[in-house]
Amino acid sequence: MTTTLPRTTIGPASLTAREISAWFGDHKVLDRVSLTMRAGEVTALIGPSGCGKSTFLRILNRMHELVAGAALAGEVLLDDGDIYAPGQRVTDARRHIGMVFQKPNPFPAMSIYDNVLAGLRLTGTRASRRVKDALVEETLTKAGLWREVADRLRQPGGALSGGQQQRLCIARALAVRPRVLLMDEPCSALDPTSTRRIEETIAELAADVTVVIVTHNMQQAARVSQRCAFFLAEQGTPGVIVEHGTTTAMFDHPRDQRTLDYVHGRF
Ligand code: ADP
Ligand code: MG
Repeated sequence: MTTTLPRTTIGPASLTAREISAWFGDHKVLDRVSLTMRAGEVTALIGPSGCGKSTFLRILNRMHELVAGAALAGEVLLDDGDIYAPGQRVTDARRHIGMVFQKPNPFPAMSIYDNVLAGLRLTGTRASRRVKDALVEETLTKAGLWREVADRLRQPGGALSGGQQQRLCIARALAVRPRVLLMDEPCSALDPTSTRRIEETIAELAADVTVVIVTHNMQQAARVSQRCAFFLAEQGTPGVIVEHGTTTAMFDHPRDQRTLDYVHGRF
């Protein structure tokens, strides 16, 4: 029995994908993928390019349906609420399930301060100046950016470095207090120092939000995640999850030889 999403609950939630299949036109790209991403954990989605990781992530917050000709089968549950339930508003799913993309995408001309709060405008949340100030400080602190920008909140988001822009995007996602944060290769456009800063941030986030991160960097998966799911699309077949489990098990003694080969860079 599933229910629609709650309006106000906060704190990390579990996300369960059940039998997800996805198509772009008649091209099937995912075949009955099931995975539970546990509340308060970091789950890494790994696998070669083109196996459907980004598509899967977009399905988890209802972005797949924005693509013309895209189709979907299966269920996604936030705790026990079906994000695709009839009558369930897309904006409710998006409020609970935030997303950070590979390329940092702050609003470049908008101030750092307003960038952090941009999501609130979209969800129609109103707050006093004092509440907003506190939220900006709190979320920039969580994103590991506060000390660098506290005295320049009125400067445009586009004036920050790439790594700072990505942390600003993390703060923007966190400001609406999502229960799950999806991250699609959030560090692939960044230098190693910025990457480490974001990894430190991710490690601390899980107390507030369940994290699902797509990464090509196996060291990163090992450093930040408690669990991994290995996606693969072999020879023109749709993507499937070959194996999932604790990150330790996936790296040290996976059940499938293909997992072992992939995590140790032999692919
Ligand atoms: P990954 O993130 O693992 O690299 P994607 O989810 O981006 O994989 O892509 C999975 C498959 O879906 C690929 O074959 C890709 O070409 C196809 N695909 C992705 N996005 C689109 C789209 N907007 N239109 C058509 N095909 C797409
Ligand atoms: Mg991708």
